[in-house]
Amino acid sequence: MNPSRLLAIALLPTLISPPPFALAQQKADAPKLLDGYSRAASDAEQGWEEKFRAMPVPDNVRENMRRLSARPHNVGSPYDRDNAEWMLSKFKEWGWDAEIENFYVLFPTPKERLVELVGPTKFTASLKEPVVPEDPTSNQTAEQLPTYNAYSGDGDVTGPLVYVNYGTREDYEELDRLGISVKGAIVIARYGAAWRGIKPKVAAEHGALGCIIYSDPAQDGYGVAESFPKGAGRPKDGVQRGGVNDTAFPGDPLTPGVGATKDAKRLEIKDTPIITKIPVIPISYADATPLLSAITGKVAPANWRGGLPITYHIGPGTGADAAKVHLKMFSNWDIKPLYDVIAKIPGSTEPDEWVIRGNHHDAWVNGAEDPISGASAELEEARALGELRKQGWKPRRTIVYCVWDGEEPGLLGSTEWVETHVEELQKKAVMYLNSDSNGRGYLYMEGSHGLEHFINGVAADIKDPEKGITAQQRARLAEIAGGTERSEVRSRTDLRIDALGDGSDYVSFLDFAGVPSLDIGFGGEGRGSEYHSIYDDYYWYSHFADTKFVYGRALAQTAGSAVMRMADAELLPYNFANTAETVQGYVDEVKKLLKTEQDDIAEKNKEIDEGVFDATSDPESPIAAPKREDAPPFLNFAPLENGATALTASAKAYQAAVQAAEANNGAALDAAGIDEVNQLLMKTERAYFNPAGLPERSYFKHQLYAPGAYTGYGVKTLPAVREAIEQRKWSIADSSTVSVGKVLINGAAAIDAATARLKALSPSGGVVAGK
Ligand SMILES: [Zn+2]
Repeated sequence: MNPSRLLAIALLPTLISPPPFALAQQKADAPKLLDGYSRAASDAEQGWEEKFRAMPVPDNVRENMRRLSARPHNVGSPYDRDNAEWMLSKFKEWGWDAEIENFYVLFPTPKERLVELVGPTKFTASLKEPVVPEDPTSNQTAEQLPTYNAYSGDGDVTGPLVYVNYGTREDYEELDRLGISVKGAIVIARYGAAWRGIKPKVAAEHGALGCIIYSDPAQDGYGVAESFPKGAGRPKDGVQRGGVNDTAFPGDPLTPGVGATKDAKRLEIKDTPIITKIPVIPISYADATPLLSAITGKVAPANWRGGLPITYHIGPGTGADAAKVHLKMFSNWDIKPLYDVIAKIPGSTEPDEWVIRGNHHDAWVNGAEDPISGASAELEEARALGELRKQGWKPRRTIVYCVWDGEEPGLLGSTEWVETHVEELQKKAVMYLNSDSNGRGYLYMEGSHGLEHFINGVAADIKDPEKGITAQQRARLAEIAGGTERSEVRSRTDLRIDALGDGSDYVSFLDFAGVPSLDIGFGGEGRGSEYHSIYDDYYWYSHFADTKFVYGRALAQTAGSAVMRMADAELLPYNFANTAETVQGYVDEVKKLLKTEQDDIAEKNKEIDEGVFDATSDPESPIAAPKREDAPPFLNFAPLENGATALTASAKAYQAAVQAAEANNGAALDAAGIDEVNQLLMKTERAYFNPAGLPERSYFKHQLYAPGAYTGYGVKTLPAVREAIEQRKWSIADSSTVSVGKVLINGAAAIDAATARLKALSPSGGVVAGK
């Protein structure tokens, strides 16, 4: 395959571009030449990979899950450690060099929890998930963590109750117009729309005293599926636990930027910026219903109403009618040990280059889906790779398999490991491949765009267990069914991968160490979820999720193949054409974003002048006009455009050099100096770093991707520029177009260095030969 086809394709009339599926079929006849491989190495690799893909067994994945999810295994629990030790023994049994690496992190557990309605009627929330007789692990009450949000601030508060929808910044703008303030109030928000930690953060910014988050049945209960145990949906008493730590940095709150080893220097608890400013507690909809029903005052707008059979009011109401709530939340602020399982197979030729694979093992309770569905597949891969070694396979690079502890409370295990080993990782890591929960359905792939072409190539070799077509084809057809960008989805060789935000263990690899990273998994079929409740267990998973464990096998096949293919390539199969094209798209997006903001504000101001808001406000339920705003200034996007153009040119030159090196069955790839090119390639992701980090979040160094400051899990691309525009911080936006433009030039230069070295190795001196 000619990777630079992507650049060429834009210049061709659509008719000339080959039909996408014919391409894959053609390759089935002649053995394909893998990117970054000479002919002999490519043939050998494909032989080993085929052997590997025949090895994972669904029943092994099932038994791994049964064992790992048999008891609650949150951070600091006996079974968390027991699981780690069991996995360690398994890795050793399969021939890996394995060890447990410990860290010591701040992990609060609940000491006192109370949510009570104190007026006009009385009600005390149960804050309990009852045993379900059919579900044999739901009765392990002694070991279950109570329902809570980790890293909630301590507090005992009483105030009027206000319903704030999802509790996003947009919801508070709406409240403003309705003339409702949450100052001195306790807010109740439903789960959804933004990451949970954003809800108490924004509530505190608006002067609320406390925050309650509940699971509305419209999101994951009877609104989407029959309730558990009859179906997969969250039952009335099911609660979503979860961390609410601020997104300033991931990992242990007391050791930002350094590993939380035994004698690391620690902040005092009162000095860490990431504990919420106000107490927060999650509840079920059974507990939420009496609270929401007690709220009076304005009726909530249509899109604020959930699936409960009540009239949703916003509150706070007046006088004796106002619903009043008493909320108490206190934690035990303990330091707990983490057990990261780290296992290696040494590389035969390049032991100092690492391909890293990870999934976490800790859960909020039994965690069969999150995370054991992914961890069980990872273990099955490890068993198969061990077996392959016994048959004579020797990976060129070192393979590092990690099973992380402490992901749930805040990506603790992976972050502390990355922070401890950051210098070594920056010298050695060529890829980090993550997975987490796994289910039935479509393959999703997200990550660094230099790996987009690579992971698409792997996905094209994986068979979907339900449909018999490849995982890549099925994902492509699902995107066509989804309906956006159909013609692009049909004609582009690679499926686009989303950028990485927050939400699993890749964050510090990508944003702090600059290791090219991917996150993959299957999902999209089956509705309803027991996410972070006691019912996310083996009974639930084996009845309602990947019940035959064939998608567990498919994940093992996909991830294992990707690891092998990256570990054995002579030339690292990065492809920058996709990166350049994607970045060009981001630049267009931020330009459009500013224009949209300018147009929207101009329109709003015009409507204020015309009296539109006054004319359409119902005097019996008045809503105020929004506030007039100054028009956003024009920004200079030239540095970004220059940077993106340079990146495109460098990517194109690199792909031409790769194509030349692939001539004559890739003879140049087998050359002695090839690893010097790899050493240069390993620096390319970090070229997008700004050592100072993002303007207001110094931990996050990557300038192409970051988690959103107000979306949490959701990614922001070109975050320094995009978030400044969204937050109307014009001077930051102005300086960021310059600093990010510079980073793009750095990216181009890093690619150029690899191109020059690669050209010197090719017999044709880098002249593109026919292929
Ligand atoms: Zn997880």
